[in-house]
Order: sequence, then structure tokens, then C-alpha cells
Amino acid sequence: MTRFRGGCLCKAVRYETTADPLNQRVCHCSECQKAIGAAFNACVLLRIDDVSITGPIMTFYSSETLERGSCSRCGSSIFSRRASAGVIGLTVGSLDEPSLFEPDMHFWVSSKQPWLKIADSLPQYPEGPPSKGY
Ligand SMILES: [Zn+2]
Ligand SMILES: [Zn+2]
Repeated sequence: MTRFRGGCLCKAVRYETTADPLNQRVCHCSECQKAIGAAFNACVLLRIDDVSITGPIMTFYSSETLERGSCSRCGSSIFSRRASAGVIGLTVGSLDEPSLFEPDMHFWVSSKQPWLKIADSLPQYPEGPPSKGY
């Protein structure tokens, strides 16, 4: 059964997965803020092999190991991918049903925008997430 499905604004890029996510997280780091063009990056983390993506993707390495993918036609931000760890984070805004997102942590809250008040009781990490490589 398809668990998550989504794509870009112009519909040229589509993806889907039948796997359960490794986790669902909100990253408040400044690089995600730039890359996503928003105050934080909410994403669903999966194994790369569990996600099938079709369409014109362009990628950019924002660090040595983190590659960010967007539609080369409309520019929608679709994922961040760390091949060394075998994981890919799908942007929640690109899901067909973003309301399916069930976050389980916040990280890089040391870079969080001061006007953003976190109202849930989920774990918050000042820097990266606890699971190494994810
Ligand atoms: Zn597109
Ligand atoms: Zn980030």
C-alpha cells in the first residue's frame, strides 16, 4: 500500500513509497531554511531504496554528504538525501497530503527563528538529530 505520495508544483516530478518512515522530523537549521525557502524543513525520512522518484530532478550538495533535490522545471524542493547513510528526507510540503505528517522531533533548534513558538511536547535537540548519519 502506498504510504506517501507527492511531487512538485508543476507535476513533472512524482514520487511514492510503500515503506514506513524511519522518522518524521523538523529541522530548524539555517541551511534548510535557505534551501526550502521557509522557516524550517519538515520532512519524512525513508530509506533511499524505498522511494521511487520520476521526473526532472536537479541536485545540489549543500555539504560534503548532503544532496538536496528539486524539480529542474519549477524549482519545488523535493528532498534532501544522504547516500552515505542510505536515507532520503521528503519535504512535507511536496506530499500530496501534507496533513499525514506526524513529527517526532525538532532539531537544530539553536537556529530556530525566534518568532516561531514550538507548541508541541516533542523532543528538541539544539543541534543535529541523535541518530548518527540520519
Ligand atoms: Zn516541477
Ligand atoms: Zn536542516
